[in-house]
Amino acid sequence: MSHESPYWNPKNETLPREELRALQLVKLRRLCEWAHARSGFHRRRWDAAGFHPSQLHTLDDMKRIPFMTRAEWMDAQAEAPPFGPLLTVPPEYAIRYHTTSGTTGRTPLRVLDGMKDWEWIAEMWCYGLWGFGLRPSDVVLFAFSYGTFIGFWGAHYACEKIGCLVLSTGSATTESRIKSIVDLNVTTVCSTPTYALRLSQAASEMGINLADSSVSKVILSGEPGGSIPAVKRQLETAWGAKVCDSAGMTEIGSIMIFECAHQSGGTHIIEDHFIEETLEYEKDTPVSYGERAERVVTSLGRGFIPLIRYRTNDLVVRIPHSECRCGRTGDLYHGGIQGRWDDMKLVRGTNVYPRAVESIVRECAAVDEFQILLTREGAIDEICVRIELKPGREDHWEALRVRLHTDLADAHEGLRFKVEQAVANSLPRFELKAKRLVDQRPVADYGRHDA
Ligand SMILES: [Zn+2]
Repeated sequence: MSHESPYWNPKNETLPREELRALQLVKLRRLCEWAHARSGFHRRRWDAAGFHPSQLHTLDDMKRIPFMTRAEWMDAQAEAPPFGPLLTVPPEYAIRYHTTSGTTGRTPLRVLDGMKDWEWIAEMWCYGLWGFGLRPSDVVLFAFSYGTFIGFWGAHYACEKIGCLVLSTGSATTESRIKSIVDLNVTTVCSTPTYALRLSQAASEMGINLADSSVSKVILSGEPGGSIPAVKRQLETAWGAKVCDSAGMTEIGSIMIFECAHQSGGTHIIEDHFIEETLEYEKDTPVSYGERAERVVTSLGRGFIPLIRYRTNDLVVRIPHSECRCGRTGDLYHGGIQGRWDDMKLVRGTNVYPRAVESIVRECAAVDEFQILLTREGAIDEICVRIELKPGREDHWEALRVRLHTDLADAHEGLRFKVEQAVANSLPRFELKAKRLVDQRPVADYGRHDA
């Protein structure tokens, strides 16, 4: 492969869409035959729904396949622990065990991968990392815990495959990671958006300006922040580097979308390995380009646990591939994964998405950390945004409070937000996934059903 090619897989990444669909159909049929023959979980559900893989003559026929949900997966796991009847291959053939990050006390989703799956997982990350400009000469630092949570595991193997020098910093402190970045001339850092921000803040406390470091690329995953313009701008300034968004799932083991070096404001779908359907939330009606949808994914690559028409709960807006000029024929999700449908909160009749609030708050450079607090006073729901200012920015408070009050209301049909100042370092800081929304309202059905 030429180092000059912008594509990891030049043929498939630029395949005309008609050929892409034909390739998807061939792979889908093969996957469904495999799953039907080997996985009790899939066969049982498909038999009940009257679906058989021989019914797949065109891609449209996949509508006959019943949706798969996380709840079903969890039930199957509980029915025959530890893995349930999902596996297509006996567990002794597995080489990797991973889980969802989960919440304390809850049983996480458990996945196994064989050698071929693991190779494929790295291959998917290669599409993204190479596409954003990683090359064998890069020195890549992983700010990642290397536990059972799948996270950046696949990216680590992808970097080895590309030929980069890989620095794993599993149990290192923030300070020692910063020292490594400087001492070893790191060119690329892989992290969650929240932690990338934390690293840059900690560095300036140590008197180090990361914008002067050799880092030229920051690869983000695990949270939507990488595609929120204000967050991205803030990170690109703090690091003096290009920031790339990507997203994956434990259920897939890898990423299914990535931002290319053109940074068009969207993330390409790896369509030769995933069929992504964009449907109305919890319904089976497809939506048009540019409309809010729930993504339903079929992974054509993972054999141990086939993922077929899986409802993700992810909120996306699909746009045509032509919106990016890199030449890839894979469509894009505008703004990456925009959040989760069940993250949406209803406050006095208005929909509030935490990500929309974050994108407004992060426009204010004086904000260090924030929290969204939902409470009920009497019968009335109240929403409050609590702001911690950066040191030395206290003078900006009144102007900032007025601006946020107005901007938040304007973006939410006039909904009144309280905007309060929080004491320095009083709000929680997050190393992995941030939880900036706290819902203290007493009714349980406002909460998320799943973690
Ligand atoms: Zn592109």
